[in-house]
Amino acid sequence: MSDIQKSWDTIVVGAGVAGLRAALDLKNAGQRVLVLEARDRVGGRSMPGTIAGQTVDFGGQWLGAEHHLFREQAERLGVEIYPQHTEGNNLVSFDGGVQPYSSQLPKLPWSSLLGLGLADQFLQNDLRKMGDAAPWMVENAAELDRESLEAWIGRKVHTKGARELIQLIAKAILCAEPSEVSYLFFLEVLRQGRGLNTMIGVKGGAQQDKFIGGAWQVPKRMADQIHDQILLNCPVHAIEQDASEVRVICSQGEFSAKHVIMTAPPALAARIRYEPALPAKRTGLIRRMPMGCVIKIHVAYPTAFWRGNGLSGAVISAERALSMVFDQTPPNSEIGILVGLIEGAHAVELSEIGPEARREHVMADLVHYFGADAATPLEYVDHDWTQETWTEGGYGAHMPPGVMTTYGEVIREPHGRIHWAGTETATQWMGYFEGAMQSGIRAASEVLDTTSS
Ligand SMILES: Cc1cc2nc3c(=O)[nH]c(=O)nc-3n(C[C@H](O)[C@H](O)[C@H](O)COP(=O)(O)OP(=O)(O)OC[C@H]3O[C@@H](n4cnc5c(N)ncnc54)[C@H](O)[C@@H]3O)c2cc1C
Repeated sequence: MSDIQKSWDTIVVGAGVAGLRAALDLKNAGQRVLVLEARDRVGGRSMPGTIAGQTVDFGGQWLGAEHHLFREQAERLGVEIYPQHTEGNNLVSFDGGVQPYSSQLPKLPWSSLLGLGLADQFLQNDLRKMGDAAPWMVENAAELDRESLEAWIGRKVHTKGARELIQLIAKAILCAEPSEVSYLFFLEVLRQGRGLNTMIGVKGGAQQDKFIGGAWQVPKRMADQIHDQILLNCPVHAIEQDASEVRVICSQGEFSAKHVIMTAPPALAARIRYEPALPAKRTGLIRRMPMGCVIKIHVAYPTAFWRGNGLSGAVISAERALSMVFDQTPPNSEIGILVGLIEGAHAVELSEIGPEARREHVMADLVHYFGADAATPLEYVDHDWTQETWTEGGYGAHMPPGVMTTYGEVIREPHGRIHWAGTETATQWMGYFEGAMQSGIRAASEVLDTTSS
């Protein structure tokens, strides 16, 4: 961008899905908008990668059945979708063995399945009691928020298998250990994601579809529509506001505007200097919402050999680091690709040991699941999100016990000229692309409402 104007109607911090959607809405409403992005690329937690000559998503990839805003945005931009491959048996790795299963639930001892069913009933009861109320307004909010998810599981789930499965599901949703997360926050995530079954489901669930060529094309094409209003390599260091304007100080100088929309994840927003200082609740909140930890792996093979063996490619494991695997073979491809996720404490451990040892660890897990066929891939790549300076983890941020009821009520509350967006601020599908879209739309309309009043 040459000869950048210094003065704008609105400045958006962050060119992820939330920031780009907010910027597009404001531009379409006639505003002059500038987007400041710390990285040398757009997309944030949506990021392209390659394996065996194929483009894949190193960041977010799935489109849920109920992700209507992101689906509509993708359709408008001509990014096509295809269903997640599900034909064949799934695998569950449990108590050292690997078992195939074809239903929604893995083959576990009946006592474990009963325990799981009971736990789901307890969760549904608590969700019914929450209704549509903001989580901090729920009748026994303080009590629910005081307890960690781990403590709740310990109290309510009595068989080892059921406990491990619930822990695995919670980790798969939050990329954090149940001991790190408030039970009330977990309930809110489930409420926003329409319950456990939808969140972990493929058909009709949050993993139903994928994008041909990758989800990263959606933010990329959004950005293409405003490319001359996006400044890359531009970390924002400080935001100063007074009665007449807000000034944003970044590595490429100082810009002013009437409003700022902050879309950086909470931990990153907390590193910025604000003048005047943010209210105590806002500072408290963004300093207490750490990101989960996740490493995403892709492994390419000459063929999708698991399909020939009657398997779908999907695996869940509570005991091994590579806790989730799915078939990631692109449509009409001769090669086969598996995608896997390492979450929570396992991601921390496998980040620490470095790429070579990590690869060995992951390949051993794949051989344990799929047998010797898995031992000789064409290529292995992984992406460690804990090492991304401008995200610090993924998929999203979570709230430890006590945070929701002490600080949570300000999550979407503007501070003077600063408005807050990003998937963490969503009221539906927080942590997902869908939540990011919703937050961008909401923040843009907040700015427009203020401007028109
Ligand atoms: C491995 C992984 C897998 C995922 N899988 C899925 C999935 O399958 N489906 C799904 O729906 N979601 C998935 N997600 C989550 C999804 O990617 C995110 O919810 C979504 O992309 C968040 O968008 P956002 O705009 O809110 O935040 P971000 O994408 O984080 O955008 C914020 C932007 O702010 C920038 N920034 C930060 N600090 C500053 C600063 N000081 N100055 C300027 N810029 C700054 C960042 O660089 C970033 O570009 C996944 C995420 C990860 C990491």
